[in-house]
Amino acid sequence: SLTSKNALVTGSTSGIGLAIARAFAAEGANVTINGLGDADAIEKERAAIEADFGVKCRYSGANMMNGEEVTAMVREAEDAFGSLDVLVNNAGIQFVAPIEEFPDDKWEAIIRINLLAAFYAIKAAIPGMKARKWGRIINTSSAHALVASPFKSAYVSAKHGITGLTKTIALEAARDGVTVNSIAPGYVWTPLVEKQIPETMKARNMTEEQVKHDVLLAAQPTKEFVTVDEVAAIAVFLCGDAAKQITGTTLSVDGGWTAE
Ligand code: NAD
Repeated sequence: SLTSKNALVTGSTSGIGLAIARAFAAEGANVTINGLGDADAIEKERAAIEADFGVKCRYSGANMMNGEEVTAMVREAEDAFGSLDVLVNNAGIQFVAPIEEFPDDKWEAIIRINLLAAFYAIKAAIPGMKARKWGRIINTSSAHALVASPFKSAYVSAKHGITGLTKTIALEAARDGVTVNSIAPGYVWTPLVEKQIPETMKARNMTEEQVKHDVLLAAQPTKEFVTVDEVAAIAVFLCGDAAKQITGTTLSVDGGWTAE
């Protein structure tokens, strides 16, 4: 149970982050959610977490592009709930293009949101965790932290960077009751993935099933999507006592993708 623990999940207004935030709340944690999107929709999600689980839930609109906003988000989360015990660096974006054509600003944005924001958040959160001798840092990584695909140079670089950051901070915090791990999903069924399907059906003249199996799941041996709840369950597990010797590692949940 995470009762009396306070968590912050970046990029939790949708998809995997929202599922992790709700799973923590279901275990009794107070949660700070973060992300972009429609203010009314975000307020609905925030209020639903409080109503569904009887915990406190607050929202931070910090933009993960900006290091100062990331630092302030962590400070405010600590101040509001009295501690920050669990930090999940989950916010992420993707852009797909050959290196010769990759827009400079997209490459930089992916590094900022998917990698640099995790540095700023960990830097701000770890002193309190060390002082209290308990902390959990979880990074939502990707199969692309372990293997590459063409045309995703920024994303693959950022996610490989997360692997190194995870290992390094795990070593630095090993004697302080703080574990640092990454979860590396393959294709997860999120609104982001779902939205690509109609366009791909049209572009390739395929049925919905063909797009899912022959395009999206081509790399995933089980030919099934990972669900957001399956990712969230790993995050909850990593927070538990049974996981206290798991640190500095990357847990794959990718239907066998990186075994090939
Ligand atoms: P999503 O688009 O549903 O959610 C992304 C979240 O990040 C949203 O809440 C969004 O508002 C937030 N975000 C984006 N830019 C931001 C910014 N500048 N500042 C603050 N928040 C910002 O996507 P998802 O699929 O749930 O992805 C979440 C994480 O999981 C990402 O790190 C992604 O790389 C990783 N991942 C996803 C998949 C997949 O197949 N969906 C696979 C492997 C890894």
